[in-house]
Amino acid sequence: MNCKAAVIPAPNQPVEVREFPLPHLEPCAALMRVTYSEVCGTDVHLLHGQLPGAPYPLIPGHINVGTLEAMSGEVTDAFGEPLAIGDTITFLDVHGTCHNCWYCLVAKATTRCPHRKVYGITYGADDGLLGGWSEVVYLKPGVKIMRLPAGLTPELAIAGGCALPTAFHAVERGQVGLGDNVVIQGSGPVGLMAGALARLSGAQQVIVIGAPRLRLDLARKLGADHVISIEDTSPEERLEAVRALTGGRGADITIEATGSPRAIPEGMRMTRDAGVYVVVGQYTDAGPVEFNPHHDLNRKHLDVRATWGIDFAHMYKSLHALARFRDAFPWEEIISAYYTLDQANEALADVAAGRVVKAVLCPNGVRKHQGG
Ligand SMILES: [Zn+2]
Ligand SMILES: [Zn+2]
Repeated sequence: MNCKAAVIPAPNQPVEVREFPLPHLEPCAALMRVTYSEVCGTDVHLLHGQLPGAPYPLIPGHINVGTLEAMSGEVTDAFGEPLAIGDTITFLDVHGTCHNCWYCLVAKATTRCPHRKVYGITYGADDGLLGGWSEVVYLKPGVKIMRLPAGLTPELAIAGGCALPTAFHAVERGQVGLGDNVVIQGSGPVGLMAGALARLSGAQQVIVIGAPRLRLDLARKLGADHVISIEDTSPEERLEAVRALTGGRGADITIEATGSPRAIPEGMRMTRDAGVYVVVGQYTDAGPVEFNPHHDLNRKHLDVRATWGIDFAHMYKSLHALARFRDAFPWEEIISAYYTLDQANEALADVAAGRVVKAVLCPNGVRKHQGG
């Protein structure tokens, strides 16, 4: 028996669909048949070789939803509850966090554990079927598997995708709470989800800054009170607009989710004195930027925080929140199109060009009601 998977052979080479033999299962391993795999901005970075050390050839796809197809012995979810064939599951892409190193034990910063590996990013095709752009994914022993919470459909779970736990981490780092004025820089999936989560956290006002208009309209549907287009404003005008909405002071908390270094000094200046600035969007090295340490940092008494990656708690809590608040917003509108494995290059091109908000791959075929 063989299985088809989409592979990035090397940086800047188009994705190829290749056949792989179905793997032999070691004890406590499992196979998941993939219903949905996200096409994330990270996958565009992988295609362009922007993640140093990524092991090509590589099967992308770090956020996945599917059904449990085979197990070797007893396989359990992250809490030790036995799983059954046919269960609808997802799993944490991060695998191998050691909980024994200095970062895990002393700094309690598990996302900086040097032993952590990530499905679809730091595992390559030579390591196995360890990415979701494949008909089946090999779940190694120790992978943190989670059944979808009651009320959470696979479509809703993949709508949350990678952006939801990433945004959850940022909102948590920013300690967004009741009464806060929150600015979100960026209207990609992470910015949109951060806006929705800030709203659910009780923010007094959520202001999303981004482009194009289609995404800003979606930001409003996902809880933003105000949107500011970067297409028809200057940095000075955006700063004025934020101040006008916040009593002249600026945001209590600003969350950066743009990927653009230029957004950083702008975001610092949009945040009020003694406010909090959270950086989540600088996932790859897009270069340096200048700011004034006296005006933008020291004198402002600014609290700058950053996040790297997610851990199990972010996935777990954000998926439960999504199930609980599934009717609060039209979450699934973030998915612009569904693609087959053979359309992976098209999906990547659409994400890279910003023609879609979110693209979802269906390695086992697009079902009729999904459109696309
Ligand atoms: Zn560790
Ligand atoms: Zn991602």
